Amino acid sequence: MISKDGASRAGVNPATGNPGSTVSLGSAIEVDLAIRAAFAARGAWRRISSLERGRILRRVSDAIRSNLEELTELERAETGKPLALARAEVLGAADYFEFYAALVHLPQGDVLDVQPDLHVYTSREPYGVVGVITPWNLPLNQAARACAPALAAGNTVVLKPAEATSATTARLASLATECGVPDGVFNVVLGKGSIVGAAIVEHPMVRKIAFTGSLAVGQEIGRVAAERVLPLTLELGGKSACIVFEDADLELAASEVVRAFTTNAGQNCSSGTRLLVQEGIHDALVERVVDRVRDLRLGDQIGPMITQDQFETVGRYFEVAAAEGATARHGGDMSRNVADAEGFFVPVTVYTGVTNRMRIAREEIFGPVLVAIPFATEEEAIEMANDSEFGLAGGVFTTDMSRALRVADAIEAGQVYVNSWSTQSVQMPFGGHKNSGYGREKGIEALHNYSHVKSVSVNLGAITT
Ligand code: NAP
Ligand code: MG
Repeated sequence: MISKDGASRAGVNPATGNPGSTVSLGSAIEVDLAIRAAFAARGAWRRISSLERGRILRRVSDAIRSNLEELTELERAETGKPLALARAEVLGAADYFEFYAALVHLPQGDVLDVQPDLHVYTSREPYGVVGVITPWNLPLNQAARACAPALAAGNTVVLKPAEATSATTARLASLATECGVPDGVFNVVLGKGSIVGAAIVEHPMVRKIAFTGSLAVGQEIGRVAAERVLPLTLELGGKSACIVFEDADLELAASEVVRAFTTNAGQNCSSGTRLLVQEGIHDALVERVVDRVRDLRLGDQIGPMITQDQFETVGRYFEVAAAEGATARHGGDMSRNVADAEGFFVPVTVYTGVTNRMRIAREEIFGPVLVAIPFATEEEAIEMANDSEFGLAGGVFTTDMSRALRVADAIEAGQVYVNSWSTQSVQMPFGGHKNSGYGREKGIEALHNYSHVKSVSVNLGAITT
């Protein structure tokens, strides 16, 4: 949708620092138009046969795959992501539509045995208009993550992508139209969070919000949602711990720990950024991690920070780490490692000499920065992992299966990975504990987050025909 007042924003390519594309910025007027269109379209979309709805969503999945190169390049121009990562995220977006296209065929209710002359059944109903607000770190992938189940459940959607990274989401909307998603069913409004995002959350025709982003904005949306009695899914930040025990396969643990904190240059809410390592293997594991990090190339393996703000934020954390007395075993200094790279690149950084009380161990940095903290016992490791305001993910590395399951059970997080990091897929429900948010995306659970249950009881005694 093009802005009525002609406002626009000049983008920047974070990998080069060069100017990027210019994006039209919407206002509350465009939000109102989009929401009214979504409101008008909601009845017909809900009543379309599930076979047809599934076919349309499946076509969107196919269209994402057949436009893989175009979408990948659009995404890279705004995020600077390495090619392989950007492609994988685009394919992941296709997976969401494929998976939820299939789930439309699941039974939507039950028959309940209450008493002989009553026929009691339940059905699942969409909310109506769902507002979706997404961040800049996995733009297309997160748009698809929320929209595919919302649409599959029979809702219509008004989506606001992050201002800095809206190109692929806008393209998704046009692909959806080409695939037969009826007018008004899937709407994208570009613009600032404080204007367009806030207008979506406040609009009386919106009946559910799915927000992915920072804790501070999630809390702000939560306050408005409380006033409006609006159901909310919040996918917020994390400071997830990887716990490595002395009996673990060290080579495997080292390579997974590196993947955990460097994927997407650490700009993943589920990054594993706290390495809790048993004392006896602390030095050996840190050495292996640092060896691997040394081999990573900025640019084709590790992308830049996606926004200038984020680049500056990571730089400030390097100063915090120095002031807190942590030892940078690699990186930790903007003047090294990045000299030959243009754009918002930061060095992959590993700190030792860290305690779990330090800010660098407690706050989400959202960059490729790992803190390593030693522990003595299983009990201490669990206590430290859970001593965090966040609870998004956790990892356990051990060859003792009883211990793996005990620790997986004890970690306060929405997902735990054993002897690997982030084996994520569309089938696995995803979401947080504590300040990482609530509600679940992905899996069958997401369908339930985008619909509510009605129970109907029919007095059979009064039925005459
Ligand atoms: P953010 O500042 O919270 O922004 C997220 C989205 O909210 C953007 O589209 C933003 O628009 C919009 N927004 C800003 N202010 C708003 C308001 N008052 N009302 C409504 N919408 C508003 O987060 P970010 O900096 O883009 O992303 C980084 C954060 O997201 C990290 O904390 C990360 O952990 C979290 N995250 C969580 C998950 C998860 O699944 N749990 C996934 C990815 C990221 P503008 O861009 O226009 O400001
Ligand atoms: Mg922000």
